[in-house]
Amino acid sequence: MTSLSSRNLYTIGWICALPLERTAAISMLDEEHRRPRDFEQSRSDTNSYAWGNIGAHNVVIASLPVGEYGLASAAGAAISLLLSFPEVRFGLMVGIGAGIPGRSADVRLGDVVVSRPQGRSGGVVQYDFVKAIQGGVLQRMGALDSPPRVLLNAVAAMQAQHARQPSHIPRFLNEMITRNPIMAQPQQGLPGYTYQGSSNDRLFVATYPHSQGDSCDTCDPTQQVQRTTRNSTDPQIHYGLIASGNTLIKDAAARSTLVSQTGEDCICFEMEAAGLMNQFPCLVIRGICDYADAHKNDRWQRYAAATASAYAKELFEYIPVQGVSTASGMEALERSSQRIALDVVNVGDIRDDSSWTKRTDGTLQCWERRVGFEQEFTEPPMVITALRAIGAAPSRQRSVGWANVDRSGFTIRFWAESDHGIGNMSASWFAVGR
Ligand SMILES: [Zn+2]
Repeated sequence: MTSLSSRNLYTIGWICALPLERTAAISMLDEEHRRPRDFEQSRSDTNSYAWGNIGAHNVVIASLPVGEYGLASAAGAAISLLLSFPEVRFGLMVGIGAGIPGRSADVRLGDVVVSRPQGRSGGVVQYDFVKAIQGGVLQRMGALDSPPRVLLNAVAAMQAQHARQPSHIPRFLNEMITRNPIMAQPQQGLPGYTYQGSSNDRLFVATYPHSQGDSCDTCDPTQQVQRTTRNSTDPQIHYGLIASGNTLIKDAAARSTLVSQTGEDCICFEMEAAGLMNQFPCLVIRGICDYADAHKNDRWQRYAAATASAYAKELFEYIPVQGVSTASGMEALERSSQRIALDVVNVGDIRDDSSWTKRTDGTLQCWERRVGFEQEFTEPPMVITALRAIGAAPSRQRSVGWANVDRSGFTIRFWAESDHGIGNMSASWFAVGR
């Protein structure tokens, strides 16, 4: 395996959240690289990295620590990536998402949705509209930034090509399996990274509830939405608005409500991009694995991660190697913010550590401690915290938050049901000054 001499030779960041998305991403590299020879990962950078090239582009793949997901985690991952790889110009946010059935696009499982600016939106609409700001007051987000022009140009060139010639996605998917045959096999009880068959792509009318269990075997076929049979099982590509937020949606009625709240014609839901768009110039690429309704299950996740990754690989053919000379992501970040601070807080064995204050918050135990910034900000910064839960998704039973932000620091708070749950909790946090 090659090892490049410098981290500064990596100019494109590829961000994914789930381990299965990371596997799909790495499988699309032409060649994997070892860690660059001058790269020492800082303690505050909790990303997990992989390196490689696609054509002449050197790519760094960053994934979130296991158990972290959501907007704050994705934003933290992006900022860490930019600090560790300062020559990264822009990013691709690649992974799975939910399709929104509607008039504007016939989105099916395994299809690919790519964010595209439309109307007053930059391509991603935050559906829960709110962002925690200083003091815990919720504020509606402004419009999110558009992807960088060089990526929009590449997408336009690829679309024009696809009007005449088929996509390379099916070929890349075949090559992925040829090189990694084990990816076709079921793993941990779920199917591999292969097409799951149109008979397993069942869209039900929004008012019909799921029957029972992990599959729709006992759901009523007469309640399915009748859709035309496609001539090909190859994934189709849709361009449009992506709705992004912190709320996991498993209900057709909630899906409709949230779509209508955005006031936009969104065709996909996901849970990371909105945290990223204003920090990191990026394009969002999602493989569709369910319809965000009660019938959702995990069957299509791996295949959907693969189709999104294959789209990203093809897009690299249209991104110029020379002339990607716009400001680096880091420079853009520095322009938009005054200063960035980030660190990791480990709780450790909190019961013997007098620097933590314990109190009861409702039914939960809360431990808090003051965290200082190394230097003062001129105004209180925006603080974002993400729980690094080991082996479990963050829940109300184990969570992290912040309070009392001022120019020199803030109070970090961990909640858990009992002392028992607190021992192995840690959090990454970052602060962006404005
Ligand atoms: Zn069902």
